[in-house]
Amino acid sequence: MSNELQGKRVVVTGAATGIGRASALRLLEAGARVALWDRNAAALGDTVRDAGSRRSAAVPIEVDVSKADSVREAFIRTLDQLGGVDSAFNNAGIGAPTTPIETIDEADYDAVLGVNLKGVWLCMREQIRHFKAHGGGVIVNNASVAGLVALPMQAAYGAAKHGVVGLTKVAAVEGAAFAVRVNAICPGAVQTPILAHLEKVGIDQAALSAMSPQNRIADPREIAEVVLFLLSDASSFITGAAVPVDGGWSAQ
Ligand code: NAD
Repeated sequence: MSNELQGKRVVVTGAATGIGRASALRLLEAGARVALWDRNAAALGDTVRDAGSRRSAAVPIEVDVSKADSVREAFIRTLDQLGGVDSAFNNAGIGAPTTPIETIDEADYDAVLGVNLKGVWLCMREQIRHFKAHGGGVIVNNASVAGLVALPMQAAYGAAKHGVVGLTKVAAVEGAAFAVRVNAICPGAVQTPILAHLEKVGIDQAALSAMSPQNRIADPREIAEVVLFLLSDASSFITGAAVPVDGGWSAQ
């Protein structure tokens, strides 16, 4: 077991499945105590179970990250359970229907922006208040390759993810004087349930693989390694970055 995050208290949002679950498990393995935030309380139980010998360091907390009251309550419960928070991976997100910009349904647009952009800001707001009062902290936000380049038929998702990169840069510059580091990761296609949105409209595994020069879809554990690095002191001089983790997709 590695010990890069020994004794650190970390919030991971969207920890029930996919990238969030893989990252939470990796951070637990690295010695962190992790508050597992998700709206899917049942599936959070699976993440706790998969933590094996580290399960006592995993604290499941039900939350809707798009609602300010829910985020505030979850943060208070996290402080109660962990005694403080040192860092966070703001990862919870939803997919969007694949459709041209002029046919996006207003409710779909609001839902995608509500979770994928406002949700990140609501979580950062609690975290940064706490970090400034307690000598600093580290944040990693999950954007997407869609926060760096155009993903046609995904305008709402792209707007939200470009927004996450913007929030990340501003928070990094504001936070530097308070020992607060903030970075974003920008994954390409990763094998998680969210891909079902694309598969529904015929964007299959082969088409998704072909988006990157490596011609494959990532395993969520490959993303978790980058999250661990960016949350650890090994990345102490990196802040305000939007790091592609995309097999070369955005380099083309
Ligand atoms: P996923 O669907 O497996 O995980 C998303 C998690 O977020 C789920 O556990 C879900 O219950 C939770 N969630 C959704 N809305 C929530 C809310 N309002 N409050 C609390 N929890 C909520 O998908 P994933 O691929 O692991 O997605 C994680 C993040 O990675 C998302 O932000 C997504 O946009 C981003 N991302 C994914 C890919 C990919 O190819 N899988 C690529 C780039 C970025």
